[in-house]
Amino acid sequence: MLKILVINAGSSSLKYQFIDIEKKEVLAKGICERIGIEGSKISQKADGKPEYELVKDMKDHSDAIKMVIDALTSKEYGVISSMNEIDAVGHRVLHGGKYYSASTIVTDDVKKVIRDCFDLGPLHNPANLTGIEACEKAMPGTPQVAVFDTAFGQSMDKKVYTYAIPYEYYEKYAIRRYGFHGISHNFVANRALEVIGLDKEKGKVIVCHLGNGSSISASIGGKCVDTSMGLTPLEGLVMGTRSGDVDPAVVQYIANKENKTVDEVLNILNKKSGVLGISKVSSDFRDLEDAAENGNEMAKLALDMFIYRVVKYIGAYAAAMNGVDAIVFTAGIGENTVIIRDAVAKSLTYLGVELDEKINSERRKDERCISTPNSKVKVWVIPTNEELMIAEDTARLVK
Ligand code: ADP
Repeated sequence: MLKILVINAGSSSLKYQFIDIEKKEVLAKGICERIGIEGSKISQKADGKPEYELVKDMKDHSDAIKMVIDALTSKEYGVISSMNEIDAVGHRVLHGGKYYSASTIVTDDVKKVIRDCFDLGPLHNPANLTGIEACEKAMPGTPQVAVFDTAFGQSMDKKVYTYAIPYEYYEKYAIRRYGFHGISHNFVANRALEVIGLDKEKGKVIVCHLGNGSSISASIGGKCVDTSMGLTPLEGLVMGTRSGDVDPAVVQYIANKENKTVDEVLNILNKKSGVLGISKVSSDFRDLEDAAENGNEMAKLALDMFIYRVVKYIGAYAAAMNGVDAIVFTAGIGENTVIIRDAVAKSLTYLGVELDEKINSERRKDERCISTPNSKVKVWVIPTNEELMIAEDTARLVK
């Protein structure tokens, strides 16, 4: 019975889940917050145990991993009696550059690649590496696996991932489309082939991962052929706080008019744009829905812009694949926001999409088909589960 610890390390936080892979069951999950900052704390919820919270200094990720092991092995709050019951650790790693198209067991070479990709994922890759090294120190001999968020995008064709800028920039700096949310797109696209019963080699699926960050992917037989995020997660759909696609000249124009640096403008495009920047209400779709219902025109505009961009990308990807068998919604908005799925699906009647409005409007948490039996293209909601995907990849590699 394999039990896998899944780690998602951020710069000052570390989220974890401890998963029994055969039962596909989460035995415990938790988070260490404010690592390296005053007031750090760990909280954990474990199967059949009281909730655990401890405020204690964690000066770095090594301290955090020790606290995670203590919490998991605690008599009162934990689920295992010793660290030896952790069979392997799966790490979410943001960027594997052009080097990894699949998950891999961590070796010195893998760590070097993660380090070489610091420039491409400046916020995440250093934290991911720190998390791996902390686990190696705390659990010597326990296999570690790196699961890359960019791996799914590696199957894109050269004509798809290459930007039309002087080619030496690709050669010198590896500037190209990578795509993100790859773990989620991979999980959901392959799950769609299975539950919908599509051809495992030829099934054409468009996955709309709509959350705080949003992206969309096109895949054939579970292999990515295009995806909307680019060199960074800024490209593509309108998001909570990110602009998605804009004319790059906008950067220079704002910089000149507002006397700002490129870095400052990029910060605006990443953190102050999207539905928040338009509505000034919130980046959270629950707030936007409320505001729009109460007559806030800018919240309504923000929602309409979000929907329009999703519809436009679905059309582009259906064209890119010369057809589409299924469109799947996932992540916070995709799984929960009825009006978004409704508006998107109703703009796709030209593809033969027919939405079952009743099923679509039901508040449910399960995998479900929301199109009618007559619908030419199947429309589904499939909850994403990145941690399970990381745990499954890890189990497969260490078995
Ligand atoms: P993240 O990218 O942070 O993982 P999520 O996938 O959790 O983001 O998506 C967050 C978005 O999902 C928010 O805009 C939120 O409004 C929206 N959402 C709508 N309904 C719900 C719900 N019932 N539960 C959680 N999120 C929801």
